[in-house]
Amino acid sequence: MNILVLNCGSSSLKFQIIETDLDLIEQNADKRLASGLLERVVGNALITLQVEGQPKVRETAPLRDHRSAIDFVLRWIISPNSKINNIKSLGDIHAVGHRVVHGGEKFTKSVLIDDQVIEQIEDNIELAPLHNPANLKGIYGARELLGTGVPQVAVFDTAFHSTMPETSYLYAIPYQMYRRHRVRRYGFHGTSHRYVAYRYRQLANIEREQVNIITIHLGNGCSACAIKNGESLDTSMGLTPMEGLVMGTRSGDVDPSILEFIHHKEGIGMRDIDTILNKQSGLLGISGLTNDMRELLAEEQEKNDRRARLAIDIFCNRVKKYIGAYLAEMGGADSIVFTGGIGENSAAVRERICNGLEWMGLSLDKERNGEKVNGREGEISVDNSRLKAFVIPTNEELLIARDTVRTIKNVPRRW
Ligand code: ADP
Repeated sequence: MNILVLNCGSSSLKFQIIETDLDLIEQNADKRLASGLLERVVGNALITLQVEGQPKVRETAPLRDHRSAIDFVLRWIISPNSKINNIKSLGDIHAVGHRVVHGGEKFTKSVLIDDQVIEQIEDNIELAPLHNPANLKGIYGARELLGTGVPQVAVFDTAFHSTMPETSYLYAIPYQMYRRHRVRRYGFHGTSHRYVAYRYRQLANIEREQVNIITIHLGNGCSACAIKNGESLDTSMGLTPMEGLVMGTRSGDVDPSILEFIHHKEGIGMRDIDTILNKQSGLLGISGLTNDMRELLAEEQEKNDRRARLAIDIFCNRVKKYIGAYLAEMGGADSIVFTGGIGENSAAVRERICNGLEWMGLSLDKERNGEKVNGREGEISVDNSRLKAFVIPTNEELLIARDTVRTIKNVPRRW
């Protein structure tokens, strides 16, 4: 089957077409046929398109909204210029898989989208006001343009974490807040943590129940997940993706009283404070320069910039704290696994995080952790390290495509 995977952000659209099916999943032989990114979706969009094996094509086009972005993608897919393997008409797209950020407590696995599912995703808008509306626009747009005959599946960022026990997901605030408003930890990046755990299991050649690892997703958004006996036991993001690790522009953990304090001192309201914590904090906030780790590392190295160094140090220190906390919570783990743009590509950041963890049994192998492993799968600790470390590039789109096929064919998810 050819699956169109859509990931709609507030002003962007990422897509991939993946050829997959139950037998291809079994043989790990599913293939990406094409991919693309449309940025500044409302306005003069910047568009990057690529047919697998061909050079990237960049162009701009005026786009009104997500629907017109999807329309643009569909036209490109079937245009004679693109020549995507096995795709000649829209009839060759057999299903659509959507990344949906917040599934609330309702969705513990991927589901076939119908009117009721759409209503329930709409109900979760209040939990993810930045993300779910954009995801929904993708769903409405694809339904309208491809017709309801093409099955669509929602794959939730929160679903993997539905196994967390109350001790992980409840906050120590009045219980009524949970009962009345479902205020609790949901966790995000679940598709990434799940994919990485699945690849780890394959590399280690063990059963799912034997997977005891800490996965650390470091991208623009960052989160850690304690995976015990193959299930999410705890994760660092909370009710929203704000909690936990330091991120590109998000603060991660702060003392909640800071909000009230800033409100008084700066004379600004909750909405502005939320913007500060979501959009002006993290690496950007500390460095005052950029949210981009690659640029910060360059500033630190080339200009010896103090605040760039501080931002990276605070970032790495927070990850280290979570590793320690999760090891204690899990009663030990076999490995930690790095993923996401920073985790996959920055040997320097991985080294700074692991530095000083030798006492807990983690010995990094400098050569294995070097440039060679960047963007690839591999072990980066020494052979006899008691706690091992790995780099495993994430592939959320592949998991979304696979879940789409399994959901349509009613085959329970396995990883
Ligand atoms: P998103 O969360 O938006 O998917 P990514 O996973 O692509 O983002 O991660 C983006 C982050 O990865 C940026 O901070 C970028 O600087 C960082 N990154 C990418 N390549 C490197 C690299 N070679 N060294 C350090 N950081 C990198």
